[in-house]
Amino acid sequence: MAVSGLAPCEVEGDGKSEAVKAADAVTDAEPTSWLASMLALLVWPSICALPLTLTLGQTHYRYVFPQTWYDEAPVVQALGPYMVADPREVKPLGLILGLLAVAVGHVFMLTYHALRRNSLLGGKTRIQPQVRQYVFSEGLQTHLSQPEGFVLLGSYLAGTWMLGWMPSSYYSFEGGINWKHVAAQLLLQDLIQCCMHLGEHKISTWVYKMSHKPHHRFTNPRIFDAFDGSLTDTICMILVPLIIVARIIPANVWSYMTFGTLYANWLVLIHSEYVHPWDHAFRCLGFGTAADHHVHHRLFVYNFGHLFMYWDKILGTYRDPKNFEGKQFNKNI
Ligand SMILES: [Zn+2]
Ligand SMILES: [Zn+2]
Repeated sequence: MAVSGLAPCEVEGDGKSEAVKAADAVTDAEPTSWLASMLALLVWPSICALPLTLTLGQTHYRYVFPQTWYDEAPVVQALGPYMVADPREVKPLGLILGLLAVAVGHVFMLTYHALRRNSLLGGKTRIQPQVRQYVFSEGLQTHLSQPEGFVLLGSYLAGTWMLGWMPSSYYSFEGGINWKHVAAQLLLQDLIQCCMHLGEHKISTWVYKMSHKPHHRFTNPRIFDAFDGSLTDTICMILVPLIIVARIIPANVWSYMTFGTLYANWLVLIHSEYVHPWDHAFRCLGFGTAADHHVHHRLFVYNFGHLFMYWDKILGTYRDPKNFEGKQFNKNI
């Protein structure tokens, strides 16, 4: 894989198809309209569509699933001599809904990206001037099939759920989405991820090479590069934080599901090659944007946080993407 951040099938600059040239021609040509921005913002509730729908009035799920399929109260799974539960004794509904929640959120999020890419949600602004030209279906296939991506994450979620390793509150369906728990999960996950990320960069060249370096071959990332790295990288930066967060935040199944879909989809969105309509508001709030993460991919030594920039601001490693406008990055990012 080239250091320039381009997959073998991708072409930079010349060699564009007529369709891509036409799409590029409208880049930056027109500002995103108010209506288009509002439509784009709908991607956030859509990412949480499944848990939101099933917890309407807090108990909508009771009308959808038989009561024997789930538990309202927290469940302490009985672990056998090998410290694992008998999977036949663990109810799988929460796991299935959790995986489905991320999948549904992903469909909406990738539809949003496809619409923006084709300028169907108003004008678009590319973060970096170099063009990442790729076929959408190839990107999607790569994204979904990487062993270090959804394959590993899905296996972790299924394994920890069915072997009874999640804390008891996570098996409880009672109480709907607790947004304080969701916010705490997102913040803590990102804080631990930031520490692991810093460790992978700073501990030693060997550690960096064996974990995070493959993800840094993308100096100009596209949305489908989010989980493209290595198994070690995903274990250190995603699975270890997930294990710790579950032990600290006593979430129920709905909060866990909402956190999961927001986290996974937000991680993908910050790898987008285009500015999002919410980026200005996010930057004011200290939330991570795609341009913030492009700063990390381009310059390596800044913006180690992903969803939040608070940790970098405390550590002095935050750099506003606007500092690089007209240099490494385009204007109006
Ligand atoms: Zn990245
Ligand atoms: Zn990094």
